[in-house]
Amino acid sequence: MQLNRRTILAGAAATPLLGKAVFAAQPLVGKQAPAFYRFKVGEFEVTAINDGFARRPLDGFIKNASLDDVKAALGSAFLPTDQMTIPFTTLVVNTGAKLVLLDSGNGDSGAPTTGSWMANFKAAGFDPANVDTVLVSHFHGDHINGLRLKDGSAVFPRAEIIVPEVEWAFWMSDDKMNAAPDGLKPAFNNARRVFGPIAKDVNRFQWGKEPITGITALQADGHTPGHTAFAISSGNGRLLMMSDTTNNPILFARKPDWTAVFDMDGEQAIKTRRKLLDMAATDRIQVSFYHAAFPATGHIAKLGSGFDMVPMAFQPTL
Ligand SMILES: [Zn+2]
Repeated sequence: MQLNRRTILAGAAATPLLGKAVFAAQPLVGKQAPAFYRFKVGEFEVTAINDGFARRPLDGFIKNASLDDVKAALGSAFLPTDQMTIPFTTLVVNTGAKLVLLDSGNGDSGAPTTGSWMANFKAAGFDPANVDTVLVSHFHGDHINGLRLKDGSAVFPRAEIIVPEVEWAFWMSDDKMNAAPDGLKPAFNNARRVFGPIAKDVNRFQWGKEPITGITALQADGHTPGHTAFAISSGNGRLLMMSDTTNNPILFARKPDWTAVFDMDGEQAIKTRRKLLDMAATDRIQVSFYHAAFPATGHIAKLGSGFDMVPMAFQPTL
């Protein structure tokens, strides 16, 4: 048989469809494997833990680009062009001295397509009672709701929680809440729901400091006033946790001047994004993103006037 486009398509059409005409002794499994992925950063062992994804309407998602341009960008990345897909991935860093979480996922407060974090965390061999420290990048719900369930219970009972000083000062201020537009008030109330019961025990870090030995907090404001990226360093290993410096980098690495509806200060978010992406590209530092396709780690290449994320290839050994 000659191999051409027509014979390939004909072959695909002849394949039995899912749910029909399955004769194998083993039934279809119908679900994905637990989503965790481990890699080393120097002596540190890092585990990416996925918390599913959310879908958003495209309309209004990017404040300074036309819908046609956004659809074209998604299409060129072979993604659906009728909606925006936003994955969630936290990092667990075992420094040898401490088990540290970078952000906590959606807990039971997210979209129905989220909420798999704890199952994935346990499948990776972790126990929430063993978490020593949670470092928080910023106070949006998808990053902090995993700290406290809707019934009020604390998920990491033993963990010290350390948050950006600037972020705390903004979201926990009654003056800022009273002055905020109505659309932002639920986020202020949610920060109080999560942190209120433990307010006196929440510690705060400043940018440029190292809240955990080997993990430095980097100023990355714009997305929120206190939004923070993390430089993780052990031996010769380096990892830049970008947090929400971009939303899904499939769009925002390539189009760093686009600004998502979640960026509270769009101009500052663009400056931060360009600065950190340029740093990662120039110094060839491995990066992780909170909202990239799982396992949400790779490198940054320069591409035209923007950048591109090159996902890490699966490494079978550590
Ligand atoms: Zn986020």
